[in-house]
Amino acid sequence: MNATLNFPVKGTFARGVHPADGKGLAADRPIEVLPAVSQIVIALQQHTGAPCQAVVVPKQQVRLGEKIGDAEAFISAPVHAAVNGVVGRQSVVTLPNARHVKMIPITAEGEQLEGRALYDEVLGGEWPIEKLEEWTPQAIAERVRDAGIVGLGGAAFPTSVKLVRNEKKPVDVLLLNGCECEPYLTADCRIMIEAARGIVAGARIAAKACGAKDIVVAIENNKPQAIEAMKTAAEGTPVQVAAVETKYPMGGEKQTVLAVTGRIIPTGGLPLDVGVVVINVGTALAVARAILRDGNLTHRVVTVTGAGVHTPKNLLVPVGATYRALIECCGGLLPNAARIVSGGPMMGFTVGSLDVPVTKGTSGILALTDQDVRTSEETQCIRCGRCVDVCPLNLIPTRLALAARQKEWDVAKRYHLMACMECGCCAYACPAGIPLVQLIRMGKVQMPRK
Ligand code: SF4
Ligand code: SF4
Repeated sequence: MNATLNFPVKGTFARGVHPADGKGLAADRPIEVLPAVSQIVIALQQHTGAPCQAVVVPKQQVRLGEKIGDAEAFISAPVHAAVNGVVGRQSVVTLPNARHVKMIPITAEGEQLEGRALYDEVLGGEWPIEKLEEWTPQAIAERVRDAGIVGLGGAAFPTSVKLVRNEKKPVDVLLLNGCECEPYLTADCRIMIEAARGIVAGARIAAKACGAKDIVVAIENNKPQAIEAMKTAAEGTPVQVAAVETKYPMGGEKQTVLAVTGRIIPTGGLPLDVGVVVINVGTALAVARAILRDGNLTHRVVTVTGAGVHTPKNLLVPVGATYRALIECCGGLLPNAARIVSGGPMMGFTVGSLDVPVTKGTSGILALTDQDVRTSEETQCIRCGRCVDVCPLNLIPTRLALAARQKEWDVAKRYHLMACMECGCCAYACPAGIPLVQLIRMGKVQMPRK
């Protein structure tokens, strides 16, 4: 596909599914800035790895971007104030994924960065990288950690850990994930359209940190505007754009790496095992902001969508704002809204309350209607094999679900229960309505570790 890449781009992977994408609801809505909120709640663990400890005390004044929590562990990321304000008493909050974690509330006080000025700071303007020579790879990784950057695609894995060089595992490819294969979600697509130059700058910075020579942005071919914007921004730079097939879960790391580089990540392995670092396009933009504008990760773009919300939008919001504030900005829920999902319909979590805070990993809020969630009763497995046919990891979902249900942990291990990425393809394809992913998830939690 591209003469300068050291490998041919295959553009697809085996198996997977093609669910209705629902992206038309918000895809054409330019990113809007959420009006200033009066309070935010910063969870001290909203990333993979060790939780942060507070580095501020109640009643302390903090400025936007000021560090309020940190940890010494290698796999962790500090958290920062997303408004100017006053710190409240530390307490516990329920996150969208139902985990209970410690949090720091901040009451907004004084002037706030908002509207166009906030948009320009996070997404807009030019991103010149002339000063990149002054940054060593190690200094970039350290700054990325200090800025609290984690994967914004949903996994929230600390980005600095991916960028630190590992002599035993050299990297030759930096892959930017712009696939956004989850139905309904359009935040990454809008970022690529509206902040393509920032993403390209962030990609070049991240590539310098991890040592990659090839830099590729993978975008599903149902996003022609994003592909065009990224290609234009990448002109004259080492960054390449690869249009890949629209198929779920193309955005999974194993699937994107295979589709773009042809390399197969072993079971239980990481992209690093095949010389690849994968970061989300929004994460790349955050890297550019950290290095070029000295900005910490305080805001992100969230898609608020679904037939159950009045006006679907893509919103630039402070980390810590409530789901309620975002939904109100979209005109509120419609009377037929029946379920709120954090993330997309395939991998998201049903949330029990709108008073949960946006975290760094919140990519979308989906309001489904009673029609969307109408379910048929679970019936017996008819051994049709569809779940096996669609599993992108070559697992046997029906066997895994049965083993989890019957707590046959030796069988579950033999069939690689822990390798399941919970993509939901099997449950989507199952004509018997068996909750395969829920059973596998439950099995992962209950299976004894040895
Ligand atoms: S078994 Fe896991 S990886 Fe395979 S389709 Fe089901 S959820 Fe996806
Ligand atoms: S798709 Fe459902 S019914 Fe068919 S084999 Fe798998 S679990 Fe059984």
